[in-house]
Amino acid sequence: MMIEQNRILKDLCSYRTGGAAEFYAAVQTDDELAEALAFAAEKGLEITILGGGYNVLISDKGVSGIVINTAGLNCHTTVNGTEVYAGAGIMIDDLAEMTAQAGLCGMEDMSGIPGTVGGAVRMNAGAFATEIKDIAVCVDMMDWDGRRYRVQNADAGFGYRRADGLKGVVTGAMFRLKQGEPEAIKVRRAEILAKRDEKQPLDFPSCGSVFKRPEGNYAGTLIEKCGLKGFRIGGAVVSEKHANFILNVDNAASDDIYSLILHVQDTVEKETGIRLEREVRFIGF
Ligand SMILES: Cc1cc2nc3c(=O)[nH]c(=O)nc-3n(C[C@H](O)[C@H](O)[C@H](O)COP(=O)(O)OP(=O)(O)OC[C@H]3O[C@@H](n4cnc5c(N)ncnc54)[C@H](O)[C@@H]3O)c2cc1C
Repeated sequence: MMIEQNRILKDLCSYRTGGAAEFYAAVQTDDELAEALAFAAEKGLEITILGGGYNVLISDKGVSGIVINTAGLNCHTTVNGTEVYAGAGIMIDDLAEMTAQAGLCGMEDMSGIPGTVGGAVRMNAGAFATEIKDIAVCVDMMDWDGRRYRVQNADAGFGYRRADGLKGVVTGAMFRLKQGEPEAIKVRRAEILAKRDEKQPLDFPSCGSVFKRPEGNYAGTLIEKCGLKGFRIGGAVVSEKHANFILNVDNAASDDIYSLILHVQDTVEKETGIRLEREVRFIGF
């Protein structure tokens, strides 16, 4: 495993913005991960974990310390009856497709969510009626000192787009699905993919939904009500198609996106009294 210095991160996140990592390691095995963590400990570096980069905004100033990329970590899956084990680097949509083909149901709603198993577990990602917490049996982790441990679902601290009980790096997860009728599963998956295509602005770089759904409301509805659709700062704009998406339409800087996020939060709070909570994770700010 190579540890790089001043590694540009733009190409590793869906917004295609941001600066460089002071140190950077792309790890493929638990041993490489342990090695990268030991390097960080030895040098006293702050650690940032990056998966597929689909839910992050990376500062234009870059990231101090070490960025450990787990998008290639343990990229294997095993199926044992209705139990499916997937390494952290497996893409969630690939897993949804693979399980659909195997006649296992439970992941159809997650079709089309971009990102890795590691990121999805850490975020408790979900769509339509299913979140990771509904199908995860246990999560394999490595703590910051390089020790492996396993967390059962009930101890993962799963909540809306969070899993606060997971301390360290997700290295893999076990999911329990159900035996289903392959054709029906494929139809449901195709429906979900079509719905996402219809509702989401997928032509420009984004992080998906910027804000979490506030209790009893929708972030997109509130943003739209405040007249913010189409509002622009630099190369960043609030999507006309889905107001909870902020798009990089013209070589935006992370600063443009950051400023627009704050503007939306402040405006919505002023007009409605509701402070929207971010779903996107800031890195290096
Ligand atoms: C077009 C679009 C549509 C989207 N739709 C949805 C949706 O429907 N539902 C949904 O929930 N999300 C959605 N998202 C957001 C994103 O897909 C999810 O949050 C996804 O789970 C992020 O995975 P990732 O691997 O890219 O994680 P990253 O973005 O790389 O990281 C996200 C967080 O997880 C942490 N992390 C990543 N990997 C690990 C690991 N191995 N161990 C520990 N921590 C880790 C990171 O430190 C960071 O805090 C969408 C994003 C886009 C761009």
